[in-house]
Amino acid sequence: MTDTDPAIRVSEIFGPTIQGEGVLIGLPTVFVRTGGCDYRCSWCDSSHAVDNQFRHEWEMMSTGAVWQNVVALSGGRPLMVSLSGGNPAIQPFGALLKRGHDEGYRFALETQGSVIRGWFADLDVLILSPKPPSSQMTTDWAAVEACLQAAQDKPQIVLKLIVFDESDYAYAKDAAARFPRLPIYLQPGNHTPPRSGNENAPVDLDGIIKRMEWLIDSVARDRWFEARVLPQLHVMLWGNRRGV
Ligand code: SF4
Repeated sequence: MTDTDPAIRVSEIFGPTIQGEGVLIGLPTVFVRTGGCDYRCSWCDSSHAVDNQFRHEWEMMSTGAVWQNVVALSGGRPLMVSLSGGNPAIQPFGALLKRGHDEGYRFALETQGSVIRGWFADLDVLILSPKPPSSQMTTDWAAVEACLQAAQDKPQIVLKLIVFDESDYAYAKDAAARFPRLPIYLQPGNHTPPRSGNENAPVDLDGIIKRMEWLIDSVARDRWFEARVLPQLHVMLWGNRRGV
């Protein structure tokens, strides 16, 4: 592994499946999920890519090896590659973006906006997803702003906010006010995420749908017509299962 072929810490690579949420919902996608995160959100649904107890499942792979996996899964046919985690911004993705773009692939990255990278400007889609109060994390808005600056308006940039309750909703409104140029996607939180990586943990779909209805009512009541409210389609289809 060299500067042009840096190592990436990978939790899993899977697909093609559809993107289950946000601006790219429904789009066939290969996922590169990285291992490690600088946050510990109370309701994290990707603990297998965050908690150190799963480190033994993560693998340091060269950029070339990651790329070979993407090509094999997609049959060499260009598609959208989603860089997720964990916090994928921790990993050195610049060389992978160059390699993939040379072959016609596109790249989306979702991050909470705590780690800033110059290669954000080489993405096709940057999804900034600062975490609301229910996560028990504290947002560094200056860092989120710095992520935007690093992207230099080159990728499509959107905000995605998870909402569990009224204070999360107020936080989402504050985020929208801070970044009025950015399209905003609201997503009801899943209060039944897999615990300790147990993908068989049942999902309370009725509870999630009730939260979605409340969110739609709130947006309509407040005449917040710029917001888009979307469910997590993969949770509705497959619950907490991994690799789909
Ligand atoms: S930022 Fe995302 S991956 Fe990291 S702990 Fe929070 S929800 Fe989990």
